[in-house]
Amino acid sequence: MKWKSLFEPMKIRNLLLPNRVMMGSMHLGIEGIPEKEDAMISFYTERAGENGPGLMVTGGISVSPEGDGGHHFLGFYRDQDLKTMSRLTTRVHQAGGRIAAQLFHAGRYAYSELTGIPSVSPSPLRSPIHKEAPIELSELDILNLLESYAEAGRKAKEVGFDAVEIMGSEGYLINQFLSPATNKRNDQWGGSFEKRTRFPLAVLHAVRKAVGDDYPIIFRLSGMDLVPNSTTHEETLAFAKLVEENDADLLNIGIGWHESTTPTISMMVPRAGFIQIALDIKKEVDIPVIGSNRINDPVLADELLQKLDMVSMARPFLADSNLLRKSKDQSLDQINTCIACNQACLDHAFEGKAVSCLVNPRAGREHKWVYKKAATLKKILVVGGGVAGLEAARSHAELGHTVVLYEANDAIGGQFNLARQIPIKKEFDETVRYYTAELKRLGVSVNLNHKPSTEELLDHSPDLVVLATGVVPRKPLISGIEHAVSYPEVLSGSAAVGKKVIIIGAGGIGCDLSHYLIERGEHEIMMLRRNGRMGEGLGKTTKWAMLQDLKNNGVKFRTNLHYEVITEDGLIITDSTTGKKEHIAADTVILAAGQESNLPEEYNRLTDSGIQVAVIGGARFAGELDAKRAIYEGAKIAFEPHSIPKKQHQKDEA
Ligand code: NAP
Ligand code: SF4
Repeated sequence: MKWKSLFEPMKIRNLLLPNRVMMGSMHLGIEGIPEKEDAMISFYTERAGENGPGLMVTGGISVSPEGDGGHHFLGFYRDQDLKTMSRLTTRVHQAGGRIAAQLFHAGRYAYSELTGIPSVSPSPLRSPIHKEAPIELSELDILNLLESYAEAGRKAKEVGFDAVEIMGSEGYLINQFLSPATNKRNDQWGGSFEKRTRFPLAVLHAVRKAVGDDYPIIFRLSGMDLVPNSTTHEETLAFAKLVEENDADLLNIGIGWHESTTPTISMMVPRAGFIQIALDIKKEVDIPVIGSNRINDPVLADELLQKLDMVSMARPFLADSNLLRKSKDQSLDQINTCIACNQACLDHAFEGKAVSCLVNPRAGREHKWVYKKAATLKKILVVGGGVAGLEAARSHAELGHTVVLYEANDAIGGQFNLARQIPIKKEFDETVRYYTAELKRLGVSVNLNHKPSTEELLDHSPDLVVLATGVVPRKPLISGIEHAVSYPEVLSGSAAVGKKVIIIGAGGIGCDLSHYLIERGEHEIMMLRRNGRMGEGLGKTTKWAMLQDLKNNGVKFRTNLHYEVITEDGLIITDSTTGKKEHIAADTVILAAGQESNLPEEYNRLTDSGIQVAVIGGARFAGELDAKRAIYEGAKIAFEPHSIPKKQHQKDEA
């Protein structure tokens, strides 16, 4: 692959960037916690350096207390945080990197229950995703806020940041001033388009004055709000021009507000699905424009750079801190690609938990999970080539151990090989490709189509056997079960599916199956569960879009019922509310009723023989099995061998 623009240097005022990739702002959920400072700084330091992103942007750093994001944000108004920021920039610079501070104010998106202060906004309008309405800012408040932004810019420069990014998108305060949906003022700060632009431009002025002429300012501008009655496309283009005229150096184009009901970064969004808006803005301005959203591949990034000046990739750097180094080295198959699942990043951020990555649980743990050759090199046998086993093999091999992996099927990947059959989960292909390349690079001996006996394992005299034998689909005790087919049979194509379909079970797999069938043809789908809500267990940031999409495609949901008999032509249920029996006609009944651990009993003898054994992933605990926990456990036993889980059914926080 010959790179055309990816590694082209670029100068913004006095700052030289070695390439055209920015690591976009990500809230890590640990920023404001003093005892997590080492973790936070290590996260950025690992990604800094000559072969790191041209520029990294921090998670939002609040310019004033009421605008705090809530869950562990840094604030420019706290002295102790300024010291943390200073240590951060020093370490990043020592590592050879560049880092910009994001000047942040949440406006009505702040949570008063977390900040202890009522939230503020241009108008007292509650956001649909918040319980409380904000307080309307007075003229004096607005002037004070401008001073806070200026002060934040000044301090950002003082503590060593290389640039600032003014957060003006995603529905936060500055965006709230610009949008007619949230700014209903009729003073000089609201009303006409010109007046609605006044606060954002005044912030830009105040920051420029504070930081001086030699200092780069990025303005993060909302290219598309995706909320009703908001800024129009024409206004957005005109605003971009105004931002340029008011001395911003770079325009970073954000897409969608947090309250928007259109997915903008989930797996359902095609790669670079919103890039057109950045291209439209590029035509209007002469300053460099940065495109973002669902750009997870350097080849795609290089293509986009034929039309744009920079690309922003945030989550892809969670998934792989060495993304650009591997691109430069032409080791593209070794890139751990972000699969846009949101499960360990955005979902964690919204739950107030530390952010990590499903495909790279080392993200956020770099300070304690260090890649260095183990003092005692061991022989490790891994049974099972699903993602738990693959990560256990990969991490152990990375630490210098000798690893042999056994997989009963003819390919590695386990449940991922089923999931990748679902059209919106094509990104899972990348994870299987990554593990294939990594095991090869690290010299792991891979034995496919092979279930080793206990004797065979013992013959190797291993130091540790990792049992990652995964799960089997649950066969619920429903009479007539022989008339049903299982979800693996459907996804692997070995079972035919008729027009009318009932899916028993409405967790993640039930939803995935529905998506799969919708794409395959004209099925009438009904998803059932005995009680509870559909899609339970799915992440907060993706569940609503998944369910909305299923509803839009005519999928019906039913709950509060008891399964009586599966028949040749459907299913008899009892409605728990009315007590009435009912026959629901169907050509095919599919079981997606969860899983059970698959842990062959014969391996009990391993423990009896005194060999150290670790059981991980679904084999250890099938309830709530998900890929996040499976991969996390695979890495954890390598980096924290003392934590080898002994008990089955013991949950672990991925
Ligand atoms: P799940 O989320 O645990 O759902 C299992 C479903 O089976 C439930 O709806 C449950 O409903 C039903 N069920 C359980 N026992 C049953 C029984 N004895 N008889 C009849 N129905 C029964 O499991 P899953 O859908 O198989 O997913 C497995 C794991 O992968 C989960 O952790 C899931 O979150 C994860 N996953 C995640 C995604 C994602 O996109 N994030 C996608 C796929 C899977 P009732 O008990 O109410 O009847
Ligand atoms: Fe990407 Fe999922 Fe990792 Fe988030 S958790 S960075 S979306 S792979």
